[in-house]
Amino acid sequence: AASRTFFVGGNYKMNGTLESTKKLLQLLKDAQLDSNTEVVVAPPAIHLLLAQEQLAGSPVKVSAQNAYHKDAGAFTGEISVTQLKDASIPWVILGHSERRTLFGESDELVAEKTKAALAQGISVIACVGETLEQREANESINVVVRQLDAIKKQVDDWSKIVVAYEPVWAIGTGKVATTEQAQEVHAAIRKWAVEKLGQSAGEGLRVIYGGSVAAKNCKELAAQPDISGFLVGGASLKPEFVDICNARL
Ligand code: PEP
Repeated sequence: AASRTFFVGGNYKMNGTLESTKKLLQLLKDAQLDSNTEVVVAPPAIHLLLAQEQLAGSPVKVSAQNAYHKDAGAFTGEISVTQLKDASIPWVILGHSERRTLFGESDELVAEKTKAALAQGISVIACVGETLEQREANESINVVVRQLDAIKKQVDDWSKIVVAYEPVWAIGTGKVATTEQAQEVHAAIRKWAVEKLGQSAGEGLRVIYGGSVAAKNCKELAAQPDISGFLVGGASLKPEFVDICNARL
């Protein structure tokens, strides 16, 4: 675990105004962040350029929350991976459970988007995770493997992918997975990665946890051998995000 650079992403979702986003980013810019942790923030699309400008010169990088795989055309309301590249946005979150469940994104679409983003040189935070029903049916690992296999079908080089394991029942609910629950699935993803991507790529793949991560629970999770960071929703809008970025200090 020590050889993988710890990674913390902040997913602002559909929150914030120009003013509040600016304040939040300034707070991050002024904070003392662990220099061994990679920090990425994902504001809503309308705040991406503001964030990019404000974080210029900071080690904190900007991510989009979604993107479409076609270069351009009649796709009203969408932003393309090509446009992200043009704006020098280095990261994109793909397959977030809210995209999958509220906006009907299939495993195949998420895979297609991942392939397109990587082709533009954009790094991807690829989200996977089971619902409560799936967990109760003991299907967690099968679901996650199915979601990863769909991406693997279209993508060979995973060096610019960070996998975010986000159990749907833990997102925005205050119900964090126990360290054992998280570590169990993270270890299964590691096993999958070593088998499907090869020893070195599989060992190097960062698998981060998301789902009600907060300052009070981040240290214990960060100590698990297969948890290489976090994707943070609600708490990324608060000053405690700095403490989460510094979970390894
Ligand atoms: C997320 O949206 O990726 C997330 C993990 O949300 P929260 O931290 O609010 O559960």
